Amino acid sequence: MDANYLSKALSLLERETPLKLRDCGTYCHSICCKGGSLDKTVFLFPDEKELFFEQNYKFLHTKANFSYDALVCDGICDRKYRPLGCRVFPLFPLATKIGDTVKISVVFDPRAKRICPLSNNMNNISKSFIKAVKRAGEYLILDKKQQEYLLSLSDELREYANLSYKLGISS
Ligand code: SF4
Ligand code: SF4
Repeated sequence: MDANYLSKALSLLERETPLKLRDCGTYCHSICCKGGSLDKTVFLFPDEKELFFEQNYKFLHTKANFSYDALVCDGICDRKYRPLGCRVFPLFPLATKIGDTVKISVVFDPRAKRICPLSNNMNNISKSFIKAVKRAGEYLILDKKQQEYLLSLSDELREYANLSYKLGISS
């Protein structure tokens, strides 16, 4: 398993957080970490499950009936070992393929719109966090498997955003 690019992406976001000087969980009682429902599943990147399981991170429980590995969060984890999907939230490194080139744009995860009080304005978010999310995406696309996954997940999030917009529940 070559998890170098994944490890690099994880380490870029080990200390970066959405707000520079404050724990953003104080705004919302850490609603994105409450666990429990299907909405609280966290997608796992290729090799991420193995990377965490190899080190016996007991907080991970994965769900098999998704098209990708997903963590069903109990609401408690060792922050040092949280998955990449948690580290980038409420943002997402959206991948777009143009010809042979894949480009990363940092956007709000459309699922954050329903729960995250920061998700109505990118100016709410620390610049260094935005930069770290972008760089994490740029590392991931250097690996073919990660790139394919990120492109496919980006398409799923576009569909989700589109559907939410049509249903009038995006914000
Ligand atoms: S929902 Fe948003 S503000 Fe609240 S803890 Fe999660 S990322 Fe921070
Ligand atoms: S794994 Fe940790 S950081 Fe991620 S949602 Fe659960 S409690 Fe929050």
